[in-house]
Amino acid sequence: MILLGSTGSIGTSTLEIAERFHIRVEALVAGSNIALLKEQILRFQPCYVCVATEEAAKELDHPRVFWGEEGILEVIRRASSAIVVNALVGFLGLRPTTVAIEEGKTVALANKESLVAAGAFIDPAYLRPIDSEHFGLWYLLNGRTPERMTVTASGGAFRDWPIGKIASATVDEALNHPNWSMGAKITIDSATMTNKLFELLEARWMFGCERIDAVIEPKSVVHALVEFRDGATTAQMANPDMKLPIAYALMQEVEEPILPPVDLLEVGSLTFRPIDPERYPIWRIKEDLLAHPERGVVVNAANEVAIGKFMAGRIPFGELSKLVIEAYERFDDAVPRSLEEVFEIDAAVRRWCETAR
Ligand code: NDP
Ligand code: MG
Repeated sequence: MILLGSTGSIGTSTLEIAERFHIRVEALVAGSNIALLKEQILRFQPCYVCVATEEAAKELDHPRVFWGEEGILEVIRRASSAIVVNALVGFLGLRPTTVAIEEGKTVALANKESLVAAGAFIDPAYLRPIDSEHFGLWYLLNGRTPERMTVTASGGAFRDWPIGKIASATVDEALNHPNWSMGAKITIDSATMTNKLFELLEARWMFGCERIDAVIEPKSVVHALVEFRDGATTAQMANPDMKLPIAYALMQEVEEPILPPVDLLEVGSLTFRPIDPERYPIWRIKEDLLAHPERGVVVNAANEVAIGKFMAGRIPFGELSKLVIEAYERFDDAVPRSLEEVFEIDAAVRRWCETAR
């Protein structure tokens, strides 16, 4: 496989699965965590390596080191592996997804931002979901046609906070996720519920189903539910660990135990709650966004700028979703008609969000 984002949360879990099932790692792509990448290079002996910058590349002693976005694309083109695991974070992951597909490769996709920003221009036949809810949906669907699909949300760091306190929460508080250990960006996206909004778009494009919604299940044991026309609903349950979705995305069928099974008596009870727009203001644009899913590019670009500002201490937590909603309203006619227009709109929204607020 070609592994993009090898030093991240999904990337390191992917390497655990690769090691256990003897899957050859042909290329490792990371950003700036050179110390960890060096260990990975020694262990997995990849043919190609790529890092974020030229300076970082100089720190590596390897015959084929590339850098930057062009470097990532070059590695995808040169490497012969049929599978690209895209575990990059953010809009940076989009070009690698489309180039991998152009090369005829299958993309095991963790980088949901690819679909959020440009789902209309990505053929889902080349994709395998790594997101736990989408893996759950795929597992349940088994080739059948759904009537409705539901994904669950943990509720993130502020699920049980008094609503009045959330707007002034700190970065450390937003990074304190109750159930999952993940990278910083997706953990903040979980606190605002933007992650779940993105997952609705991800499901929309991946499975072509328009009747899709989310509910809070605080234990993160039930990941997805599919309702069929006959009135039956099936649910996928598993302990919260990304290694199960990753193993399926890499191998399609898994006959060995990956996780300990769910112990129902230990779980005891399950509760489901609606997502309250008072607590999660981003949820106010859900219906409109689902009716115009191509506008995901605007939400994604604004969200990436807003998260950058929040992490840098330039805006409080409460302004994060406000900025995204403002951008969504301001760019209400921005509907990309091609992949290139996705990049143009992304750049325009970022420029505006940098100076607004
Ligand atoms: P992390 O932040 O843990 O990892 C991101 C990876 O991308 C790191 O390897 C990082 O490298 C690399 N990277 C960042 N910038 C660059 C760059 N400029 N060039 C090359 N590589 C770069 O994120 P996660 O693993 O949590 O998430 C990855 C994706 O998977 C996201 O889209 C997320 O939404 C999705 N996802 C994650 C889940 C999870 O459980 N973590 C669950 C479902 C989906 P470095 O650290 O070396 O700088
Ligand atoms: Mg998820």
